Amino acid sequence: MAKALVEIKNLSKEFPVKKDLWGRTQLSLKAVNDISLDIYPGECLTIVGESGCGKSTMARLILKLIKADQGEVIFEGEDILQLKGKQLREKRQDMQMVFQNPFSSLDPRYKIKDSIAEPLIVHRHCKPPKGVTQGEAIQARVRELIGLVELDETILEKYPHQCSGGQNQRVSIARALALNPKFIIADEAVSALDVSIQAKILELIKKLQKELGISFLFIAHNLGVVKYIADRVAVMYLGEIVELANKEELFSNPLHPYTKALLNAAPVADPRARDRDRVLLEGEIPKPTDIPSGCPFHTRCPIAESKCSEVKPELACQETESHHVSCHLV
Ligand code: SF4
Repeated sequence: MAKALVEIKNLSKEFPVKKDLWGRTQLSLKAVNDISLDIYPGECLTIVGESGCGKSTMARLILKLIKADQGEVIFEGEDILQLKGKQLREKRQDMQMVFQNPFSSLDPRYKIKDSIAEPLIVHRHCKPPKGVTQGEAIQARVRELIGLVELDETILEKYPHQCSGGQNQRVSIARALALNPKFIIADEAVSALDVSIQAKILELIKKLQKELGISFLFIAHNLGVVKYIADRVAVMYLGEIVELANKEELFSNPLHPYTKALLNAAPVADPRARDRDRVLLEGEIPKPTDIPSGCPFHTRCPIAESKCSEVKPELACQETESHHVSCHLV
């Protein structure tokens, strides 16, 4: 297998939710708990799980937008979490993020052309060829980027409020592409859009992944989206990865009871499939401030045994080398 582009090792983050008079933490919320993952060049790794399972926190930890309590994020041999100032800014040029809501990620006071040009100006990225000014080189790159995301150049003179959600998300993608990154995190990048627009943005991301060889970490809760976009899928539950596999393997042979329940809960268009055997989850998802002992899923698992509440299962290889599951009974 190729060498990983991003190696995430034992990443953890807790947020204090209650402090005493002296500022000591009395209650904390475990958002990400000892996660290790590799992301390979040119692949799309998708993280899927219910709301609040820690997917977005993990994305922010990887880019050091928030500080991790523990762990490493090795990108091209360097631990991002140890970098500061200029070194971190330089490294971040290769690692970009596309957010869920394009309206809030673009500055409403900037025209589209200025939003796309901003990273090029801040990072002094455009070196003009002889006889061309810096401004002309930036304008040419902005036009190239708007073409890459399949928008008409007339949009460059508009403001975000004059564009549709889909157009603004394409602009956000153009901005993320401006510095030629090797790795992009797309955090629920299509969930705020209409279904027909979602499909077009997913197609665009797939095209960019293929043509530019960019690695994507795609965060989603919609299994239809995951099935379309992913090469590999990591299933997350209460801050932990419980199953990791190639997309085909995960959808055809899910092994973890939580993954099975997620797949069973997804709507199926075929009415004949209504009577299929379904594993449905009972009970509420536990609070992240009070994660159950042993296997964190044992309070909802339909096949839990006494051992499950006492011993924590490891994420280990099952069936094939690329299929990892964290369950005692698999
Ligand atoms: Fe269920 Fe036990 Fe497996 Fe956890 S370890 S998923 S509780 S069977």
